[in-house]
Amino acid sequence: MNCDDVRMTLRDYQEGRLPTAAQGGVRAHLEACPDCAHVDAVEQELTSALEHRLPQYPASLALKRRIAAQWKVSTPKRSRWSWWRPSLIPVFACVALVLVGAPIFYYERAAFQDTNATSAMVGEAVNDHLRVLSSQRPLEIESGGLHQVKPWFEGRLDFAPIVSFEGDADFPLKGGAVGYFLDRKAAVLVYAHRLHPISLFVFRAGGLHWPAKDGSALTMEERGFNVIMWRQSSLGYALVSDVDRRELASLAAKLQSMP
Ligand SMILES: [Zn+2]
Repeated sequence: MNCDDVRMTLRDYQEGRLPTAAQGGVRAHLEACPDCAHVDAVEQELTSALEHRLPQYPASLALKRRIAAQWKVSTPKRSRWSWWRPSLIPVFACVALVLVGAPIFYYERAAFQDTNATSAMVGEAVNDHLRVLSSQRPLEIESGGLHQVKPWFEGRLDFAPIVSFEGDADFPLKGGAVGYFLDRKAAVLVYAHRLHPISLFVFRAGGLHWPAKDGSALTMEERGFNVIMWRQSSLGYALVSDVDRRELASLAAKLQSMP
């Protein structure tokens, strides 16, 4: 077996694929021939590197740098604009995010604020009704009818409350008082339904968050009270009572339908 024969079969020898006699022949030659022994050693090292080491290790930092250098070299020459473009991409991304996100955020915040403001108004209406109920003198004027109540408000309010429903057998008008609704003065008219008192607050509507459109009413329940609120031109109306929602709505309809 000469050197050429050995080198031709070296891979098979290394992997033990040769017949036993040939395997012994190659081994004998390698022990006697330093050149072939050297080739055998190099080959084994290379095989080991290819089959085991390279796939096992991630790219080194140096390799990454080389690859990065390759990419830089192969990138076409940039114009001044394209040189700036990569650094502007985050800026554009932020601007896009703001443009897309801001209306959603604004809308959600506005909706949240509207909801908050509305519930604050409903809460205030119930509080004012409880104040009327718990007041030592709930009514500053006991009603002899609307013609008596309306003039009484003159000079006591900074607006003219528009209330035309003077009460009937179902909802008699019991009297009136001056109160506050949030930050503003309010005319308080107290009606009754059987034994249930009903408070009507009339106040300037400006500057408050009215969820419903002009004329349409908002009906809510808060702490066991029914609250119906609506706006007519510049005035806001809040009707509060523990009477049934349908019955309260019928009074609201009477108050709204009056000229
Ligand atoms: Zn040899």
